[in-house]
Amino acid sequence: MSATFSLHATSGAARRGTLHLAHGRVETPAFMPVGTAATVKGLTPRDLREAAAQIVLANTYHLWLRPGRDTLVAAGGLHRFMAWDGPILTDSGGFQVFSLESKRTLDDDGVTFRSHLDGSTHRFTPENVVAFQEDLGVDIAMVLDECVKLPASDAAIVDSVRRTTAWARRAATAWRRGDTALFAIVQGGLDERARTRSASDLIPLDLPGYAIGGLSVGETRADMVRMARFTAALLPPEKPRYLMGVGTVRDLVAAVDCGIDMFDCVYPTRSGRHGRVLTHAGEYNVRNAAHARDFSPLDRDCACEVCATYTRAYVSHLFRASELLGMRLLSYHNVFVLNDLMARARAAIDAGAWTAFRDSYLAE
Ligand SMILES: [Zn+2]
Repeated sequence: MSATFSLHATSGAARRGTLHLAHGRVETPAFMPVGTAATVKGLTPRDLREAAAQIVLANTYHLWLRPGRDTLVAAGGLHRFMAWDGPILTDSGGFQVFSLESKRTLDDDGVTFRSHLDGSTHRFTPENVVAFQEDLGVDIAMVLDECVKLPASDAAIVDSVRRTTAWARRAATAWRRGDTALFAIVQGGLDERARTRSASDLIPLDLPGYAIGGLSVGETRADMVRMARFTAALLPPEKPRYLMGVGTVRDLVAAVDCGIDMFDCVYPTRSGRHGRVLTHAGEYNVRNAAHARDFSPLDRDCACEVCATYTRAYVSHLFRASELLGMRLLSYHNVFVLNDLMARARAAIDAGAWTAFRDSYLAE
């Protein structure tokens, strides 16, 4: 069993399902906090459980370079190494490598890049990236893809779709472990023809799930939502759909409405380290003077431990005093808010009340 997905209810395009993975169940729609280097920054696995995280994401690029495959295998795999026994998804490293524009060379066989840590040379191929993720024992592995930065020329998009398809075929052939589910990645930028081509090339591989890549990379929010909706509709309904790099309250609600099941983003933890508070009613910066004597919780509508215990004034003080606890508390709250948002979305779809729920978040 690599992964099975059951769809329980739909409302418009919005979907309510359950993904069964080797290390447990994920109720969808689901948000995945990002643990880049085998840690969701500032949070322990116990914190993540309390904050209702069902699955975490880790980055192949970073783990490949440090601590490296041998240490992770000697540890007994990534779950044991980071002491998280729930499901883990790793990305393929493609997105990070293609962000290192000056430090990589691409060919049809793979991509050679220099480590941002020490300048050493490394090479990713579709095969060795799958093998690495299988060696880590993750629940979901991603195929190596080529993500073009937007705006991109038509030729660059066509080329990236062609290469992503060829690499996905090689990854599917290299895939060995039954308890690691391999997901394909649909590319194509903002071009509907290229997205259609990419999806129709990948669907015959019959992999356990599909990601929509190449969005949230600098295009407008309207373009992101339009392409997510267009691409989701191309994908088989019985397989899970994962939109990469989306993680604000409004974007998550909009993307669930497009028919997406899974999301990841560094946003809740990165913004949490900078004093930015996510709430069900919008965002604010806790450092602002207005909060210095505000003894209400970070979000009145939040049931997390931080909101039950501390005030805005206290968290604001921690940030002004550069105290570590401020970053930790706010990362915890922000992750809780997005997981809670997804739980509320699931309940709304189950109850047949999705449209009203969506409009309560997206109305201006
Ligand atoms: Zn809270």
